[in-house]
Amino acid sequence: MTFSKLKAWEIAQGYRNRDFSCEEVTREFLDNIKEKDKEINAYITVTEELALKKAKEVDEKFHNREEMSPLAGIPISIKDNISVKNVKMTCGSRMLENYISPYDATLVKKIKDNDGVILGKVNLDEFAMGASTKTSYFGVTKNPLDTTRVSGGSSGGSAASVSANMAAISIGSDTGGSVRQPSSFCKTVGMKPTYGSISRFGMASMANTFDQPGVIANDVRDLTMMFNVIEGRDERDATSVGNPGLNYDFDFSDEVIKNLEGKKFAIPKTYLEMDLNERVRRELEKAIEILRDCGAKVDEYDIESLNHTIETYNILVNGEIASNLARFDSIRYGHRTDKKFETIEEMYRASRSEGFGDEVKRRIMIGTNILSMDNAEEFYYKALKVRGLIKRDMDRMFKDYDFMICPTFPVLPLKIDDNVSPVEAYQADLFTIPANMVGSPSISLPMPAGEDGLSIGIEFTGKRFKDKDLLQASLAFERSLNK
Ligand code: GLN
Repeated sequence: MTFSKLKAWEIAQGYRNRDFSCEEVTREFLDNIKEKDKEINAYITVTEELALKKAKEVDEKFHNREEMSPLAGIPISIKDNISVKNVKMTCGSRMLENYISPYDATLVKKIKDNDGVILGKVNLDEFAMGASTKTSYFGVTKNPLDTTRVSGGSSGGSAASVSANMAAISIGSDTGGSVRQPSSFCKTVGMKPTYGSISRFGMASMANTFDQPGVIANDVRDLTMMFNVIEGRDERDATSVGNPGLNYDFDFSDEVIKNLEGKKFAIPKTYLEMDLNERVRRELEKAIEILRDCGAKVDEYDIESLNHTIETYNILVNGEIASNLARFDSIRYGHRTDKKFETIEEMYRASRSEGFGDEVKRRIMIGTNILSMDNAEEFYYKALKVRGLIKRDMDRMFKDYDFMICPTFPVLPLKIDDNVSPVEAYQADLFTIPANMVGSPSISLPMPAGEDGLSIGIEFTGKRFKDKDLLQASLAFERSLNK
């Protein structure tokens, strides 16, 4: 039996039928990690002992016929910017190379309380800044579908671990696309829910008004299983409000296809006018055809303000990054230089320049500059206004439409050796950022793979707190692809 190829919900059913034990399943996933991860490099830390201990506990509970959560015994990987108590949390940075979390993130605590089996912590771009995992201090995570390509980012370790059967479900974080973009690269499903649905307590902040934990899995049903557990208001995150739509009892029968009937999708005109990769465009056209066949309506829709997405995002996000990363001063947290220093200034300077990589430094410098003196008026506050315009325009669109649809990423997964300038890399995030800008839920769904094994991700973005509708439409789309 190859348990690791099953969907998480199939594993859960297997436990209930007593087809196999959690220890068997967990061992198989751990074996996969040992066998494949030397090459893929998805894991930074594997918590083998803890995982096996939990697996035995789960088996014991099943044996005693205790009431178990659907998540019980499911092998899970966690992005390494989310705290798991007494386990290293590096954020993909030398700065936190040896940092051990003294507490569990709220979402991790919930996973543990529901008896999820945590296999370890997975790779990311340094502090989640990037779209390839190439900025990680621990090296790139290769794409399991084609190891000459990157797994995407920043939650590349999460997507690769699911894609290579080294975890059944993974937790990532999404500030500008980091859950959806690697999902599209690795042929997994990835969703970031409405901002505020899941507590950010215990997740290292990149840009806190954009950051939201998300889930990467093999199908939409697996996503719902995890969301059910980790959704909820948390008094330790003042921006969390919870989201009952994620906690809904979904229908998984073939009837789900009807969910698309009469639904209205808008596709931004500016995106269609862009220089899209041919294959991406073809797959998008196929996706649109499928939606129409299922009784949905798809229209072009003009949202002029989306032309300013990239600039606005980078100004705001870098501003937040500069202030959030100030806490890594090598006193409270982080790498301390071995160099001799006379003043505290010198100590900060040496520690921070050794601890952070180039991409993080670039963003801290841009952010600091943007927030200083007159620049704040000229850049930061202006960008806040443009964020407001984008929100206004998207809200207007959502009055007439249920969802926005586009490809998740404009080109195929990049080659590891491709030399992409930072500005080119920033521009490629165009399709994923709007959801973070306005707090909307957004999902990437994989199209069937081509002959080369690669697949293109299609993104649906929904209305705030209408995550249930988004998941239902996604279930229908997924089902019609697999028909
Ligand atoms: N690629 C985007 C960036 O580098 C998004 C990152 C993220 O979502 N964490 O800013």
